[in-house]
Amino acid sequence: MDSWHETSGAEVLAHFATSEVGLSAVEARARLRSNGENRFREAPRIRKTQILVRQFQSVLVWILIGAGAISFILGDAIDAIAILAIVVLNAAIGFSQELSAERSIAALKAMTAPNATLLRDGRQVSVPATDVVTGDILDLVAGDLVAADARILSASSLTCVEAALTGEADAVSKRAVPIVGDRVAIGDRFNMVFMGTAVATGIARAVVVATAMHTELGRIAAMITDAAPSKGTPLQQRLASLGRSLLWAAVAIVVLVFVLGLMRGTPLSELALSAVSLAVAAVPEGLPAVVTVALSLGAVRMARQHALVRTLSAVETLGSTDVICTDKTGTLTVGAMTVRLVSVDGRYFELTGEGYAPTGAVHRRDESAPPTSAEQTLLHALATVMAGCNQSQITEVNGVWSVIGDPTEGALLVAGGKLGIERSQVDTDMPVVCSLPFDSERKRSAVVRRRADGTHLALVNGAPGTLLDCCTHRLTANGPQPLTAHDRSAIVKRSTAMARQSLRVLGSARGEIGANLPDACTPETIERELTFVGLSGMYDPPRVEAKQAIARCRTAGVRVVMITGDHPETALAIARELGIVLHAHETALTGPALEAMSDDELRRTVEHTRVYARVSAAHKLRVVRAWQAVGAVVAMTGDGVNDAPAITGADIGIAMGRTGTEVTKQAADLVMTDDNFATIVTAVRQGRGIYDNIRKTLQYLLAGNTAELLLMLVAVVAGLPMPLLPIHLLWINLVTDGLPALALAADPIDTDVMTRAPRPRAEHLANARFLWSMSFTGVLTAGVALAVYCTMLQRHPVDVARTWAFTVIVFAELLRAFGARSDTRSIWQFSPLSNRWLVGVVACSVAVQVLSHQWTILGEFLKTTPMSLPDAARLLLLGAVPLLILELVKSLRRWRRRAGGVPT
Ligand code: ADP
Ligand code: MG
Repeated sequence: MDSWHETSGAEVLAHFATSEVGLSAVEARARLRSNGENRFREAPRIRKTQILVRQFQSVLVWILIGAGAISFILGDAIDAIAILAIVVLNAAIGFSQELSAERSIAALKAMTAPNATLLRDGRQVSVPATDVVTGDILDLVAGDLVAADARILSASSLTCVEAALTGEADAVSKRAVPIVGDRVAIGDRFNMVFMGTAVATGIARAVVVATAMHTELGRIAAMITDAAPSKGTPLQQRLASLGRSLLWAAVAIVVLVFVLGLMRGTPLSELALSAVSLAVAAVPEGLPAVVTVALSLGAVRMARQHALVRTLSAVETLGSTDVICTDKTGTLTVGAMTVRLVSVDGRYFELTGEGYAPTGAVHRRDESAPPTSAEQTLLHALATVMAGCNQSQITEVNGVWSVIGDPTEGALLVAGGKLGIERSQVDTDMPVVCSLPFDSERKRSAVVRRRADGTHLALVNGAPGTLLDCCTHRLTANGPQPLTAHDRSAIVKRSTAMARQSLRVLGSARGEIGANLPDACTPETIERELTFVGLSGMYDPPRVEAKQAIARCRTAGVRVVMITGDHPETALAIARELGIVLHAHETALTGPALEAMSDDELRRTVEHTRVYARVSAAHKLRVVRAWQAVGAVVAMTGDGVNDAPAITGADIGIAMGRTGTEVTKQAADLVMTDDNFATIVTAVRQGRGIYDNIRKTLQYLLAGNTAELLLMLVAVVAGLPMPLLPIHLLWINLVTDGLPALALAADPIDTDVMTRAPRPRAEHLANARFLWSMSFTGVLTAGVALAVYCTMLQRHPVDVARTWAFTVIVFAELLRAFGARSDTRSIWQFSPLSNRWLVGVVACSVAVQVLSHQWTILGEFLKTTPMSLPDAARLLLLGAVPLLILELVKSLRRWRRRAGGVPT
C-alpha cells in the first residue's frame, strides 16, 4: 500500500500499531529483526572478486606470466615456478593491501553514516539510520537527511529538497493535512517525506511507513546498481600512466636488444632469456601496493587526529591545499558564548559570570550601580524575548555547565535568567503556539506564545540589521515609540560599537498579534510590525589552538579565510585576535557587497580578502569558485544544509562532525569530529607528509629499476653474459626493494613539511628533478655492480660473478633506503630508529642474502654460489658507495642553497 498520503495521521499510526510517543525499544528491536535493516541491498562479495581481478589486470603481471612461460619453454622449470610464485605472492599482497584499504575507508565512512532522531518510549533518541523501522516516529529539523519514507503528523515551515527523487532542485513545502484524489505524483505528496531527501527549513514529526527497499528511493536503487568501478585517486591514475610509459620503454629496449643480438648471431634461446630479464627488470612490481598502503595508512592516522576522510583522494588533495575557508563560530572560536553586555533604551548594562553558569550579576556600565526599577522593567522585557524565543537547554554535570542545542541560544537563555526571567516561568504564563527556528538566510528566530487573555505575542531574536527591518517601534522607558530613521541609525551604531569589542550581537523584538492567529505561521506573517526591545552582545573566545594553527598555515603558505554570518566588526575583531588579519586597515567583505560584484570583480578581490561577513551559503560557493578560478586548491568548511553546494564544489569539502547537519556530512570529503580549526591544519600536514612518502618511495623504487635496466643493457650491448638472472631481478624488485618501499611509505612525517609552500595542483610526480635524481642514482648503483661483475668475470666462472653482482646490488639497494627518507636532509640528521620497520626489513634482507651464500637450499632457489663472510662484508662496504655519494651530493646542495640564500 502506498497511498498513505490519502489517510489521516491517526489512521497511519493505528495501521502501524504505534502512537505519538513512538515505539518501545523492545518493539523496535523486534521489528528490526523481522523486517531487516533500513539499508539498500548490496552485494559485498562482488567487491572482493573485483579487487582480485584487478590484481591481474595490470600489463606488468602479464609480462611476468609471459616471462615465466618462456622460461618454462626454455626448460628452466625452477625459474618458471619461482616467477609464477612471485606473481601469486604479488597478487596476494596487492589483494590484501587493497582490501584492508577499502575496509578502513568503509569503516571511516560508517563512522560518518547518517543518524536519525526518533521518539522511542516517549523520549528523543538518536540512532543510526539503518535501525529505523516502520512505525517509528521521526523528528526532523533543517539539515536532516530523511532516513525513511514517512507520513507527516505535524510540521512547521517545513520544506524539503527532493532532488534525489524528483530531480527538482527547489525546496518544496510540506504540510500535515491529507491529500484527496488518487494518482498523486510523488512530487505532489506534500504530506509525505521521503528517504534520501533533505530537510531545508523548519521542523516536523512524522511516522515511518516504509524502510529500505520498500521506500521510493529504494525502488529506484533496485533499478540502478551503483557498481561503477572507482577509477582511483588522481595520483593512482597518474601512476598507472607512468607504469604504461615504463612498459613502452621496456618494450623498446627489448626490441633493441633483440635486433642487436640477431645481428651478432646470438642464439635465440639466449636472446629470449635476456628479453625476459630486461622486461622483469623494468617492471616496478611493488608500486601499486605502496601507494594504496600510504594513502590508507594516512587515512587511519588522520582519523586518530579527529579528521575522518570519506575518500582516499581527499588524503592526497589535502596536501596541496592553498586556501582554507573556515567558519568562525565554534571552529575558530570555542563556541561557548556568554552574554557580557546588553543595551536597552540607549543604556548599557554589564553582566558578570563565566560560561553557561547561571550565576552572575547585572550592573550599569561604568558605574557598577544596579539598574533602577524603570530600567529593570526594560531589562525584564528584553529577558522575556531572550529566554522565551529559545530552543536550547542548559545542563550541569559535575559543576560544569553546558548547552544542549544552539550555543547562541544557550547564552541568551543564561543571560535571561541573570536578568530575572526563566523560561519555565514564560512557558507557564504563555504557552508556545508555534515556532520558526533560526536559519542563516533570514538570521532570525521567532516564537509565538498565547497569553492567558487569549491574545498572542511574537518574540523574535536575530541579527540587529535584519531584525530592524521588521520593526516599526522601539521600546523605551515611556513605552513603545515609533522607530524613526534616527533611532534606527542609533541602534545600528550601538550594535557596531559592541561588535568592535569582539562581541556577537543579537537584537530582540516583540510583536502583538491579537486573538486571531494568521492562517499559517511563517516569517512573513509573524516577523512584521515588531517593537525593538534591546541588544545583547556575547563573547565567544578564540581557540588558543586555532591561533597556533593559523601561524603554522602562514609558514606553510596556506591562506586562511574566515567566512561567517556574523557582523563584520565582530568578525574582524576575532580575525585580528587570531592573526588572520594582520593590518589595521583591512576590512571585511560583506554578503551584500559580494552580491553586487561580478564574477570577474570577485576573482580580483578574492586574493586580498581575508574576512567575509554576513554571508549566506550561496556566497560561499561563489568564493570557492573565485579561488579556483585563480588556480587555488580550496578547502571549505560548513555546517548547515545550504552549505552542501559549497562543500561539494570545494576541492576539499569539510563538514563539522558535532554541529554539522547530516546533509553536509554526506556531501563532505572530510568530517572533523571536534569542529576544531587546528584539525584541518593537522590533516593538511598529514596530507603533505603522505604525498612526500609516496614520492620518495616511488623515487626509491624507480631508481632501483633504472639501475637493473642499465646494468643489463650495458652487459647486452657489450656482449657480456647476463649479470643477473630473472629470479635475481624479481627478488630485488619484490623483496629488497619492495619491503623497504613499504616501510618508506609509512615513514613518520618530516618535521619541515609545514615550512614549504603548497605543492602546485598540476605538479607532476615525475618532474625533471625527480627524473634526474632517479637516473643519477641508477647510474651509480649500476656502475658499482658492473665494476664488481666485470672484475669477478675475469677470474671466476659466470655464476660466481653473478652472485657477487647480485649481492652488491642488493646491499646497495638496502642501504640506499635509509638515504631515500629525505631529499634534503642527510641520514645523520635522522634517527634511524624513527622508522623501526625499515631497520628491521633491511636487517632481515641482509641476513637472507648472507644466508643464501652459506645454505645451499636457499642458494639453489636464489641461484647463488657460496661466499665467505669477509667477502660479504667487503661487498657490504662497496654497496655503501652509492649511498655515500648521494649523501655527499645532498650536503653539497644544502650548502650551496644556504650560501646562495635560497630558502629551502
Ligand atoms: P556564524 O558564521 O558565526 O556561525 P550564523 O550564520 O550562525 O553565523 O549567525 C549569523 C547571525 O545571526 C549572528 O551574528 C546572530 O546575530 C544571528 N543569530 C545566530 N544564531 C541565532 C539564533 N539562534 N537566533 C537568532 N539569531 C541568531
Ligand atoms: Mg553558525
